[in-house]
Amino acid sequence: MDKQQATLRKIEQLVSAMTLTEGAGVTVHRTIGTPALRNLDPFLLLDHFSSDRPDEYIAGFPEHPHRGFNTFTYMLDGRMQHGDSMGNTGNLGPGSAQWMKAASGVIHSEMPQQQDGLLRGFQLWVNLPASEKMTAPAYQEIEPQRIPKVENAGTRVRVLAGQYAGEHGPVQDPNTRVQYLDVTLAPGAAFTHTDIAAEDVAFLYLFEGEASVQDERLPQHHLAVLGDGDGLNVIAGEQGARFLLVTGRPIGEPIAQHGPFVMNTMDEIKQAINDYQRGQLVRDNAASQNRSSA
Ligand code: MN
Repeated sequence: MDKQQATLRKIEQLVSAMTLTEGAGVTVHRTIGTPALRNLDPFLLLDHFSSDRPDEYIAGFPEHPHRGFNTFTYMLDGRMQHGDSMGNTGNLGPGSAQWMKAASGVIHSEMPQQQDGLLRGFQLWVNLPASEKMTAPAYQEIEPQRIPKVENAGTRVRVLAGQYAGEHGPVQDPNTRVQYLDVTLAPGAAFTHTDIAAEDVAFLYLFEGEASVQDERLPQHHLAVLGDGDGLNVIAGEQGARFLLVTGRPIGEPIAQHGPFVMNTMDEIKQAINDYQRGQLVRDNAASQNRSSA
């Protein structure tokens, strides 16, 4: 029996990126996590950094805490060094990625390893359910060659998380089954996806060229929240297009957020702030340090 034809998702909301300064002075373009789009359950924040001006990135992100969620970093250009309270250090180069489950608490730094040139990439925050927020943190660094590529006429898809066209990305998140694709289209080429879980949220973030979804144009540095459906058709403009397509299953729990702490209640946020001020945010560094020095 033929599979019923996919219902194509349309653009439900367009969010233009807000430019702000993060860390010790890094210019980021934020879409999720702004007044126009506080969150998109299970996603809490999307930052795009892209600059060839050292004064917009050189100060980096010195030591800072996280609790209650995952961070996923994807580097397109340039290098960042990561160091954390679990004892991990990592050097993120072009095309590499990093999944960090901050969970009960991590203190880390993310510092550019270059004096000039282009630094470009993304950071996405993916929430954790209540049952996982206070579990032990974990860290996964992903070399570019571990990210599968699916190539067809005029399209190239890198599968960073979840699965697409039979390829499994290096990140598999059982809580949200996040699918994270980097899609590059030649001028006029089409990207078709016929297997997006209907109950999952989905968004596109366009960062090169331009594209349209069901005849609606998606400009650069805009995020499109997609409406209901299980399929998607994106057509590139005359310059071609490159975008992230991210989908995930909503967690459906209350979100209490204060900066780098994302919990379910304000009491848990107060606890996180107290823990951090008393130097007790990190609960699991000893065990992890043993693991990484083994
Ligand atoms: Mn961080």
